[in-house]
This record gives sequence, C-alpha cells and structure tokens, in this order.
Amino acid sequence: MKITVICGGVGGAKFIRGLREHLRQTDPGAEITAIVNTGDDMWLTSLRIAPDLDSVMYTLAGQNDEVRGWGRLDESERVSTDMREYGVGWPWFTLGDLDLSTHITRSHYLRSGLPLSEATARITARWPLGVRLIPATDDEVETHVVLAEDGSEMHFQEWWTRHRAALPITGFVQRGLDGSTPAPGVLEAIAEADVVLFAPSNPVVSIGPVLGIPGIRDTVEGTSAPVIGVSPIIAGAVVRGMADACLTAIGVATAADAVALHYGARSRGGLIDGWLIDETDAASVPAIEAAGIRARAVPLWMKTVPLSAQLAADALALVG
Ligand code: GDP
Ligand code: CA
Repeated sequence: MKITVICGGVGGAKFIRGLREHLRQTDPGAEITAIVNTGDDMWLTSLRIAPDLDSVMYTLAGQNDEVRGWGRLDESERVSTDMREYGVGWPWFTLGDLDLSTHITRSHYLRSGLPLSEATARITARWPLGVRLIPATDDEVETHVVLAEDGSEMHFQEWWTRHRAALPITGFVQRGLDGSTPAPGVLEAIAEADVVLFAPSNPVVSIGPVLGIPGIRDTVEGTSAPVIGVSPIIAGAVVRGMADACLTAIGVATAADAVALHYGARSRGGLIDGWLIDETDAASVPAIEAAGIRARAVPLWMKTVPLSAQLAADALALVG
C-alpha cells in the first residue's frame, strides 16, 4: 500500500509518526511519502531554514525535543547566543547548535547546486525514518502576511514567531509562486497513491501553501485515491499554536466542520472525500456529510504515539 500525506511541521510530524507505528503493526511493506510544506522556509544569516521539513525529520528520527515541542533533543544555544553579540540574525528566532548543523548542511548542498529535494534526501538518509520526505517544491516560495495597518508584507515566520500572530492581517501571499513547480516525485506520489491523507496541520499556512504550488491542487482533485483529512481544530479551538488567527484572516471559522467545508467535497469540485473530527464535535457529522464528505467522530488528541497510531488507523478506516 502507498500512502501519501500532505503536511506541515509539528502537527504533521505527530500524525505521521502515528501512521508509521500503525503500519508497522498492520502492513510493514507499506510505503509512506510525506509532501511537506516549504512556505515557512527562509534564508537567515546565509542559511536556508526549513522548519517544517526539520520538525518532521527530527520527530520521525526520535531526535525532537518532546518537552519544548519543537527543535532537537539535548539542544544548546551557544552559537546563536554568540551571534547576538555581532548583532546578526533574528534575536527572537532561536537556532540551536545541533539545529544549525542541519541548516549548515542543507545550505552546503543548496550552494553546491543541488535542489532542496535532493538535499532533503541526503539529510534524511542519516536516520532510518521509514518515511520519504519530499518538499512540496524545490523553488523558493515563501509565505508572507499582508498587514492590515498599511498593506505591507511580512515574512510569515516574523509574524508568527516574533509577533505571535497578534498583528492584524488581511491575508497571505506566496511570494515566488509564479513559475514554481512541484518537486520531483510530488505529483506522482499523489496520483499513484492508494490513499492520500491531509495531516491535522494548519489548513492555511501548512496545507494551503502546498496545494498552492501549481499542479498540486489539480492532482489531488484528480487522483483515483481517496483523500481523507484530519481536523486540527477540536471543540472550536486549535490544539496548539495560533491557526485560529490564520483561519480568521481568510474568513473561515475556527471549527472542525468549517475547515472541512473550506477544503470541500471532491465530488463537488473540492479536495477531500472524508474528514475526521473529534468526539466532542460529533454533532457536526451530519452537516459535514450533507456537504458530500464522509465524516466520523473519533479521539483526535495525539498525546501519545499509540493514540496517534489509532488516529491514523481511524483515518484509513474511513476510506471504506
Ligand atoms: P507547524 O507547521 O509546526 O505549525 O505544524 P502543522 O501545521 O503541521 O500543525 C499545526 C496544527 O496541528 C495546529 O493547528 C494544531 O491545532 C494541530 N495539532 C497539534 N496537535 C494536535 C493533536 O494532538 N491533534 C490534532 N487533531 N491536531 C493537533
Ligand atoms: Ca510550519
């Protein structure tokens, strides 16, 4: 069985770790491909930072900091602390020493002419992830927010991390989108999958930017595989982060059913065939099904690997 997951960083990582665990027990020959958002990527002090690719890689490698929720295990910050004395970098954007090793390695590959997808293949080869990670695109397509105050644009990362998504915005733009193409293998992974899954990632700034790369949305709409999504919203709130600010900016309510309708039923020109919501949102099942999307209410909290594995099993069970 071939399973392709479209995802962002931390939420996507937890879900894929559960999926890998579930398949280890039920179908060890299954192939998992993750198509990872690169909209948060940026150049910072000459280094290419790819937060979502790294979150997924560290988590699948067992190298993530479970307590902090992001970054690497046993991390220190000597280098970035020292760089602050030079006044370079973003003082509000932490780069751990071990994390810098990844960024330096990635930048080395990019500067020697390799595309991001090949750099990612080489970097992830270090660990037996059991999952193939492909960036959505090799091109530099970076998410910016449009500030309500004066219409100017700011890199998503600055708005999210420095301003905690508190500055009012009117929307998002994907800078560099024109002429961009999906990375090698992305369209095939969607078209040739037995199942396509949308991880419970941020719909606006994780899943949205992947679907925005020309060709990806059309391929999701047209794949013969069922497309099943998992809600990142539980009981009208985000589990973690500030995805509500992103949804509000594009006029979508912070609710599991509203996100399902935002993606829309594939049978009606949308993107998904099925949608998992939390048990506490069970009352929304009829409304989602009325929109042409098969829905089921199950426990959606990925607090442990077994719970994430059960969630992945529930997503595959919805395929029917
Ligand atoms: P990011 O790129 O690191 O922000 O991560 P993602 O976009 O992949 O995931 C962020 C989303 O994951 C947030 O909107 C959270 O609400 C959601 N999320 C985090 N933990 C859980 C969980 O345990 N269950 C569910 N259903 N969603 C979660
Ligand atoms: Ca992200």
